[in-house]
Amino acid sequence: MPLWTDLSQHITDATGAPFQARRQHSVSGGCINSAYVVEDGRQRYFVKTNTLDKAAMFAAEAAGLQAILASRTLRAPHPICHGVADGNSYLVLEFIEMENGSGRSAAFLGEQLAAMHRVTTSRYGWDIDNTIGATSQINTWREDWIHFYGEHRLRFQLDLAARNGYPLQAKGEKLINRLPDFFTSYQPHPALLHGDLWGGNWGEDPQGKPVIFDPALYYGDREADLAMTELFGGFPPPFYAAYAAAYPLDAGYATRKDLYNLYHILNHFNLFGGGYGGQAARLIDRLLAEL
Ligand code: ADP
Repeated sequence: MPLWTDLSQHITDATGAPFQARRQHSVSGGCINSAYVVEDGRQRYFVKTNTLDKAAMFAAEAAGLQAILASRTLRAPHPICHGVADGNSYLVLEFIEMENGSGRSAAFLGEQLAAMHRVTTSRYGWDIDNTIGATSQINTWREDWIHFYGEHRLRFQLDLAARNGYPLQAKGEKLINRLPDFFTSYQPHPALLHGDLWGGNWGEDPQGKPVIFDPALYYGDREADLAMTELFGGFPPPFYAAYAAAYPLDAGYATRKDLYNLYHILNHFNLFGGGYGGQAARLIDRLLAEL
């Protein structure tokens, strides 16, 4: 059954009438999926599609957006439905008109991200595994953050990098063994994280409010979210000022931020190859030298 026909079985308007897609056009901007805006003249949806094997990825993205919405902090698109149709998997989201964030919305983003990070639970991880880009992300619950970060984040990506032709395990193993040294005077708490908070995953709605989307959500050290905002830029100074005013950071963040961004650099090597492998190797050397 064609995808656009399938949507009419899952989406109804306020009167109960099925959604009848009349127009759709593809949009660019995403890294991983094909994306479309689909409308019937009254309602508009943002639809992502991928191959059949990505159905679980979309289910996890929908659950991640639900968790952000349940935190009643930042705006995120409401997931409408997800499934498989026409030989593809798909995810339908509320359509939100978005522009690049301004200083004002960035300050609000900082304040509200701090509020989201105050949503806590008793362990690190999440109920389901998800993806970071297209790479699997393991979220098996653990009591201990150092163990969680060492095994489910660093070792997972290091093993993948070796399979992708860049064996960094000897260096990586040294770093994993020394992880406790980064936490001698700092005790993290499980915080609700976006998990993939780079500049391309937030925008500003027509009311000037920030919107976050495309999460790789789990409960982890909040510094991991902050670190990623610094990796590729896209977060103006008012974001950091508002975050720090709402939820001050520990001084050791300056060192741990590199440790947390190592995960994303390894992931970029595993997704895109190229110079990210050498960058990860140099970063591991620097982190070991700093200890
Ligand atoms: P991918 O999963 O492929 O990386 P994204 O979720 O990052 O795709 O979305 C790609 C782009 O589409 C974003 O940069 C944003 O501009 C736009 N976008 C994402 N979600 C929505 C939405 N719910 N409504 C309108 N535009 C959106």
